[in-house]
Order: sequence, then structure tokens, then C-alpha cells
Amino acid sequence: MSSTGATIDFRNVRKSYGKFVALENFSMHVGRGEFMTLLGASGSGKTTALNALAGFTDIDSGEILIDGVSITNLPTEKREIGMVFQSYSLFPHRSVLRNVSFPLEMRGVPRAEARRRSEKALAMVRMDALVDRMPHELSGGQRQRVAFARAVVFEPRVLLMDEPLGALDLKLRETLQLEIKAYQRQIGCTVIYVTHDQGEALTLSDRVAVMDKGRVLQVGPPEELYDRPRSRFVAEFIGANNLLTVERAENGGMALEGLGPIKGDIAHLSGAEFVSIRPELVRVRHGGGGAHPARLKETVFFGNSVRYVLLTDADKEISAIEPRRPGQEIRPAGARVGFDLDTTDLVALTA
Ligand code: ADP
Ligand code: MG
Repeated sequence: MSSTGATIDFRNVRKSYGKFVALENFSMHVGRGEFMTLLGASGSGKTTALNALAGFTDIDSGEILIDGVSITNLPTEKREIGMVFQSYSLFPHRSVLRNVSFPLEMRGVPRAEARRRSEKALAMVRMDALVDRMPHELSGGQRQRVAFARAVVFEPRVLLMDEPLGALDLKLRETLQLEIKAYQRQIGCTVIYVTHDQGEALTLSDRVAVMDKGRVLQVGPPEELYDRPRSRFVAEFIGANNLLTVERAENGGMALEGLGPIKGDIAHLSGAEFVSIRPELVRVRHGGGGAHPARLKETVFFGNSVRYVLLTDADKEISAIEPRRPGQEIRPAGARVGFDLDTTDLVALTA
């Protein structure tokens, strides 16, 4: 099974419900065969964007193109889009096989060929042994595999997935994330995936678009969003972060809230209102010393890592994470320590 993925362009799309604006100035390009994820809190407009692309909702203004062609006047069934939703949207009175063959039946594919193609799609998701089961006889994960097979059986150019793993438990979610990624590579279609789970977005995607209030705040590969968030919102949404207000910056140094002066290369921080640093980049000096004296407020043991909350003498909390080494002493809260920050690890943020 394979399909040639299409390119997708949202250009300045606006969608309102009465006075409420659900999508505003929404622009995004998705490349052929790319796995793009829309990441945002509930209500940020993710589903609205998918619905506009699929044709379930019309837009106030702007334009949406598939393969460079405007789809404004193209009916839903002509857009060649497969969809998987969070809720199990299988037909309850159709068997697994007849659920998957449904899109082919709709397209007038002859019965024998529809059966062959459906079985092939079900084999890909390892459901070929259960073709005669009814949906209520399947587990949640199995239902989503069937829903996935049904969405791709007609070899759509575009596959949209709206929180497809949202109803599953964590372990199963992680397994299916890897499966979905592998299936998409195999098929080659263009995917827009929606989630509010940042871990899922980082795991699955070629690129992630972070959304807030109907807008795209930043779009980029997962590593770029993680390493170089541009705004406070993105920095706080993706991964853990220490956020520090810049109090003063001048040649050769800057001062940060609760930490005092920082020395080192700060050219990349010019104009920053805030800087952030990831906990794993804070260098804890367990024997004391370091540029910033502190005491341990809290130590949390995670097995493979240890998380520390440090309190500076000016009462600023700093989170640090270290890999755990066997035999390493875990010091009690209250112990005097210190830490260092490398200025090149600091990321400049705007409000
Ligand atoms: P998300 O999928 O990111 O959770 P949605 O796109 O579903 O967000 O919704 C974005 C906003 O638009 C929400 O505040 C929601 O309440 C509102 N909204 C969505 N659909 C409708 C509708 N049919 N009528 C009125 N408001 C809606
Ligand atoms: Mg939604």
C-alpha cells in the first residue's frame, strides 16, 4: 500500500463562530509526505483547522490548497483525505473487514478487489487474524488500528488524525505512536496529526506547529522547538524549563532575577526579556562552589535520573535533572550546594 502525499497550504485562514475567533491568520505549509503535528491546549483551534481542511466546516476568509490547488469549492469526498478520530468511530454493525472496505465500497471498487485491499491494510496493522470480529469485540488499541486501516485503505493523499490515541492508556499510547510512525513511513502519505500531548508531538513528527488561540506560534522540527523556543509560551509548553527574568544586560555580562550576575558570552541574548534553561543543562556542584550558591529544597528520585529543586540565596527556584549513577549519594533537603550555568545554554525569549 502506498500513496503519493500531497502538499498542503493554509493561507491566512480565519474561522469564527459568532464573535469567537477559532482560527486567526492561520498559515502553514506541509510538505509532501511530511508528518506535521498541531500541538496546543484544548480549545486552541486544532480540530477546527482539520475540519476546515477536510471540508466539514467552511472558513470566513483565507485559502486552503492541496497540491497547490484551492479546495474551497471542492466537496469533502473529492479531497481524498483519510481521517482517524479520538472516539472509536467504527460502524458498530459491520465486521472489522467490512469497516475497512467501506471507503472502497463507497468508491465503487469491485467486491473481490475491495476485500483484497482491505485485508492488505489490516495485515499492515496486524489485525488480519481478526477480520470477522465486530467492533465491540475489540480492545481500544485494536479499534484504533482498524480505524487507521480504514482511513488509509483507499490510499488517500492526506491523512488527518485528531487525538487518535487520546482514549488509550499511556503504555499502549507509546506503542501505537511508534506503529503510526512506521505505517506512515511505509505508506508515504502526508499527515496532519493533532495532539495536546507534547511528548507525543516530539516523538512522532517531522515538524510541530505549536498553536495558541487559533494561531501558529512557532513551527519547526521537534529538536528546534525544544532547543530554541522563541517565546515564553513555547518554552513553557514543551518540556520543563527554568524561566529567568533579565534584570540588566551590558557588555560582558547580564544579571538575572534571583541569580545576580552571569558571566560569559551573551551576544545571542541581546534584547531578551526572559531567558530559559533546561533542567538537564544546569550543572549542580554537589560539593558546593560554582558561580551560584544554593541549597537543596527537594530531591526526587526517578530511577534513571534525579531531579533537584535548588533554591538560590535570593529565593529563586531552579530545577536541575541529572542522570543517576549507581551508588551516588542522594543528599537530603537543606544541604548546601552550588550550580553553574553556561551562557551558551541560555535561550532568549520574548513575552
Ligand atoms: P481544539 O481542537 O484545539 O481543542 P477546537 O478547534 O475544537 O479546539 O475549538 C476551538 C475553539 O472554537 C473552542 O473554544 C471551541 O469552543 C470553539 N468552537 C469549536 N466548534 C464550535 C462551534 N461549532 N460553535 C461554537 N464554537 C465552537
Ligand atoms: Mg480538538
